[in-house]
Amino acid sequence: MPVPISQMATVASYVFKQKLLGRKRYPLVLMLEPLYRCNLSCAGCGKIQYPSNILKSQLSYEECMQAVDECPSPMVSLPGGEPLMHPEIDRIVAGLVARKKYIYLCTNALLLEEKLQLFTPSKYLSFSVHLDGLAAEHDASVCRGGTYAKAVRAIEKALARGFRVTTNTTLFQGADPERTADFFDTAMRLGIEGMMVSPGYSYAAAPDQEHFLAREATREFFRRVFRSPERRKNWRFNQSPLFLEFLVGTREHDCTPWGMPSRGVFGWQKPCYLLQEGYASSYQQLLDDTDWDRFGPKSGNPQCQNCMVHSGFEASAVEEGFSSWRGFLAMARAAIFGPRVPAPSGADAVAAPPPAPEELLPPPGSSLDATPESLRAAFRYRGDVTLVLDDGTHLEGFVADARESEVTFWPKGSAVPERIGTARVRHVVFSGRDWVERGREVAEAGRRRVAAAERA
Ligand code: SF4
Repeated sequence: MPVPISQMATVASYVFKQKLLGRKRYPLVLMLEPLYRCNLSCAGCGKIQYPSNILKSQLSYEECMQAVDECPSPMVSLPGGEPLMHPEIDRIVAGLVARKKYIYLCTNALLLEEKLQLFTPSKYLSFSVHLDGLAAEHDASVCRGGTYAKAVRAIEKALARGFRVTTNTTLFQGADPERTADFFDTAMRLGIEGMMVSPGYSYAAAPDQEHFLAREATREFFRRVFRSPERRKNWRFNQSPLFLEFLVGTREHDCTPWGMPSRGVFGWQKPCYLLQEGYASSYQQLLDDTDWDRFGPKSGNPQCQNCMVHSGFEASAVEEGFSSWRGFLAMARAAIFGPRVPAPSGADAVAAPPPAPEELLPPPGSSLDATPESLRAAFRYRGDVTLVLDDGTHLEGFVADARESEVTFWPKGSAVPERIGTARVRHVVFSGRDWVERGREVAEAGRRRVAAAERA
């Protein structure tokens, strides 16, 4: 069983209840992101490129519980950043278990072995260990040697102590289908409960912009991975079998970003875990104030055209499975007999072009008059800016959101944001370091070290 029966029953009855209540949008998994800081700097991740005061900030236990109490999803994912670096992670997990939430604590597992004693095995808690393939592929993906071996050791320790353990894998252009299938075999042999797999998404802030797969290439890739019925019958995935059919192109889904709402240090992220269109201060405000029709491939939004990520489409697959008898039977058939997989076409893998940014960002050092556009650019800039106010005050810090009437501003070095009326801002100077550029340098240096170690 990739998921315990109690969890399946809880999720199924929750979704049925939403249907009976006629709710069009409901959360399936709360992505509770308690911090952005991490002990790795992966090439495909766009989450950690922030000034140091933002990376040092985190959601408190109380803020985490408030988010969970606002958002009635039966499952909570704890991504990051690295959640095991949060000083109250054990308390947060205990609070979620007390609320009977099924938790996926997403970790790179570098700290898992030493932190295991903070937790108690529970049917509600699963460690979801980040592994992007076998040792060579995973270490290259996370830009640090030895990471795979350490994660595998931690998985074995966690399993031996009775914890639920799953893996989560993100795949990029250049991944080899045969090696990926080997990795799935290996992960199953470790004795984990199930695997979660997703193609990467082309974050504008990710250091590596060249290795995200285009949509058709993603389908072709997964068809090759799943081509052997003999092998795939031994694989267990803790995700909807209809999502797997979506990945191989057996079926189509549109994105349902409201199914996995994301609450992080800046608030409730609009519209999804990946795009940053601003933040809402409550879950209800997120639902009410987001123009959901602007997102997902069918909307025509260029940012969404090549996206097939788990956090956007898993809830769509679950929704399909519970929307009609036809969907339900398709889900049951795929769960019992495995996903239907078309034969590979033999087409070459093609990288997706990076999504067009909504606007070009000014280079570091630029100074602009304050306008809605320049304040918006300041919000998109991953570095500190200096706001020059009407009384001549110069405020340096990070713009975490820019609305029509106010900006949310984290003064340099501060862990507490301020709100500043846009009418008071006269100029915006892009004065701080661009952390996206810095992330590229760090990831590139890490990859060179991994490659050199491989050669040695
Ligand atoms: S398609 Fe992808 S990027 Fe677009 S809203 Fe959905 S999850 Fe976000």
